[in-house]
Amino acid sequence: MSEGVITVSYIAATILFILALGGLSNQETARRGNMFGMIGMAIAIIATVSAPGVTSYMEIAIAMAIGGIIGYMLAVKVEMTQMPELVAILHSLVGMAAVLVGYANFMDPNISFPTPIEMTIHEIEIYVGILIGAITFSGSVIAFGKLSGKIGGSPMLLPGRHWLNLGLLIATVWFGREFVHASGTGGGMEPLIFMTVIALLFGIHMVMAIGGADMPVVVSMLNSYSGWAASATGFMLGNDLLIVTGALVGSSGAILSYIMCRAMNRNFIAVIAGGFGTEGGTVTASTEDQGEVIAIDTEEVADLISDAKEIMIIPGYGMAVAQAQHTVNEITRVLRNKGINVRFGIHPVAGRMPGHMNVLLAEAKVPYDIVYEMDEINDDFPKIDVSIIIGANDIVNPSAQEDPNSPIAGMPVLECWKGNITIVLKRSMATGYAGVQNPLFFKENTRMYFGDAKESLDAVLKIINN
Ligand code: NDP
Repeated sequence: MSEGVITVSYIAATILFILALGGLSNQETARRGNMFGMIGMAIAIIATVSAPGVTSYMEIAIAMAIGGIIGYMLAVKVEMTQMPELVAILHSLVGMAAVLVGYANFMDPNISFPTPIEMTIHEIEIYVGILIGAITFSGSVIAFGKLSGKIGGSPMLLPGRHWLNLGLLIATVWFGREFVHASGTGGGMEPLIFMTVIALLFGIHMVMAIGGADMPVVVSMLNSYSGWAASATGFMLGNDLLIVTGALVGSSGAILSYIMCRAMNRNFIAVIAGGFGTEGGTVTASTEDQGEVIAIDTEEVADLISDAKEIMIIPGYGMAVAQAQHTVNEITRVLRNKGINVRFGIHPVAGRMPGHMNVLLAEAKVPYDIVYEMDEINDDFPKIDVSIIIGANDIVNPSAQEDPNSPIAGMPVLECWKGNITIVLKRSMATGYAGVQNPLFFKENTRMYFGDAKESLDAVLKIINN
């Protein structure tokens, strides 16, 4: 392929990537957006592999085959509930690629520049690329551990951690100066290795210090970092398309982090500083001081929802665990056929990744026009007859508003308790991801319907179908 054709292909791929991002912003256009992304990526790969100077076709084919097979196997095997951790571990690969490309570039004897200035710029690219890549790599591995429950969700707060971070930052700048000086005379490997170790430690420390409830911001932040790492790789390899694509991912991840921070009423710097949220996972908290809960059975649930006029369904992580979305769609269809107004209220951090619930509901073919964002429907609860909470917990926890000492104090939540009756589907009294007990379960107008969400809803569907 000639240079001209490659440039045109790169521009076409860039446009397709932008259209893909635009498409993904809306459920109705998401499928088309994905298709644009796939076509863009195919064009990008073909153009890059056919560039003049590329000769190692065999090695590229083998690497692509291995990567393709692993990717295919993962995609087929992964459960919807494991998606967030898969995304985290994929981010770590982008980080690792940036580190490896950085070292390969540094050691490549064939790279030379006509002027010392260009050489210095290239060295800074290598240094910054490895720095971002190493932070992304180790941070994503820890995020993977936290999201998969292999590492506890409680924040690891070292004494004087802000000073430690500052010290690491100063050391990074100092080693950067050493690196640029030394590489002019053929050296530079030592400062590069020292910086890599510091960056790896910083990535670990940064994510370890973040508590369970702040993980949504971390996921989107690492998404952004992986984009900047890819962009840095583009600079090192002199590949314009990689620079642009990385910048698109980096900036959209940054916007997502901002949206997540706003959804949790948190300041981005405070999130990075860590400490919000306590335990992760399911902690069975004490129920003594909160009073009694009122449990109900399948018939009572069927009666309540059949008699309602306005129903709000609030799905959470438990719906993903139970894979109950198809039954939810069936129930919605039956109730709407009976003339009941059924709507869905989606909290921005419901589930374990941004857009988790929207993906599940779209998969089950729930009509888009009855799925609302939290801000759109939070004022409607006083008019709701029955709210059905399906495997959600933290996102409907009133203590976020009522208890200033709660670890999730200040986080906006869906105010379902303002409705007439709230039915909560969950298996036990265990807490949600943030590890805090939920006073909603003990309210007078709350009914607990214990059991696996899918089994419970299947039983309800059977009754309301008759
Ligand atoms: P939560 O984790 O707060 O609660 C989920 C509830 O589902 C649990 O209390 C559990 O209770 C119940 N559950 C689990 N399995 C089943 C099942 N098979 N059937 C019925 N119920 C089940 O989820 P939310 O969606 O309410 O909140 C999301 C939390 O995750 C927030 O704290 C958020 O910050 C965090 N987070 C979000 C991310 C994102 O990007 N969206 C990323 C990382 C973290 P029981 O065990 O009793 O059944």
